[in-house]
Amino acid sequence: MAIKPKVLIIGLGLIGASFGKALRGAGAAHIIGFDREEGVAEQAIELGVIDEARFSLKVLSDIDVVVMAVPVLAISSIVRQIDYLIPSLKVLTDVGSVKGEVVKSVNKVLGSLPECFVPGHPIAGAEKSGVTAAQEDLFQNHLHILTPLEHSQPEAVELLSTLWTQCGAQVVKMSVQRHDEVLAATSHLPHLLAFSLVDTLARESENREIFKYAAGGFRDFSRIAASDPTMWHDIFLTNKDATLTILRRFQTDLSMLERAIEEENGEALHSVFSRAKSARDHFAEILAEREKS
Ligand code: NAP
Repeated sequence: MAIKPKVLIIGLGLIGASFGKALRGAGAAHIIGFDREEGVAEQAIELGVIDEARFSLKVLSDIDVVVMAVPVLAISSIVRQIDYLIPSLKVLTDVGSVKGEVVKSVNKVLGSLPECFVPGHPIAGAEKSGVTAAQEDLFQNHLHILTPLEHSQPEAVELLSTLWTQCGAQVVKMSVQRHDEVLAATSHLPHLLAFSLVDTLARESENREIFKYAAGGFRDFSRIAASDPTMWHDIFLTNKDATLTILRRFQTDLSMLERAIEEENGEALHSVFSRAKSARDHFAEILAEREKS
């Protein structure tokens, strides 16, 4: 029987704990968990998320893979604490939603980018946080983006791809810059709009009474505004340029719609809505295909 890799997950929140649960469920790895809250690591054992808990990052050895599953701006501090361990690792990875900043942090702390370092980002998630939100099937039929660097060892990329595939994810590779641009458009901008809309409506309405009258459209659009504020604070501060580029394009298009309503230009409205409907229908087909595969 092949020896299972020893995977240390640092940060047993939604993503870290779900990865642990999925790898354990697949019998793919021996999972060691660390969380800055000791109680969380103990809870993770009870919930079947990890095989063993560590309560310090100081004297670790005999680990194959480290997964940093913490907010993007916490990566520097984690790398600083485990710098002695990195030369012996087969893989160092993360799950952060912004890749440029993670790469910058690792480079800054270590002075260079280690060959075992392969940044990653699961395109799956939820509006819940913490170890109790862990879901074994969270990554099933979802993409996992790897952004291998110039110096990333092919063996490291292969081992990491295998682990994510064993969790049911479909692994794709792209550059760090492309990742941050694509995610700014498909994830960061929609979250910004949802946060902004819910905040505007909540502030305008006395006692949030207006929400009583909201139906499916508002529910669907606003769901992601329940996401973790710390995580999103980090994302917007660290993917600033790509987010501002797409936000400005969106503002231009929104102003065009504003003008069309003002001028009662039904043709312009119809044309935008039809194009958007066709694009959304196409997206629904892609989702259906992915679920079938
Ligand atoms: P989460 O459920 O809030 O978990 C965050 C984890 O990081 C917790 O274990 C937390 O410890 C730990 N942590 C927070 N700040 C820390 C610090 N300064 N130093 C050390 N540990 C710290 O969040 P998550 O959703 O799993 O997000 C983790 C990462 O995954 C983020 O980088 C995020 O961008 C990325 N991601 C999230 C999603 C999503 O939909 N949620 C999707 C893809 C990628 P405590 O137990 O003490 O709170």
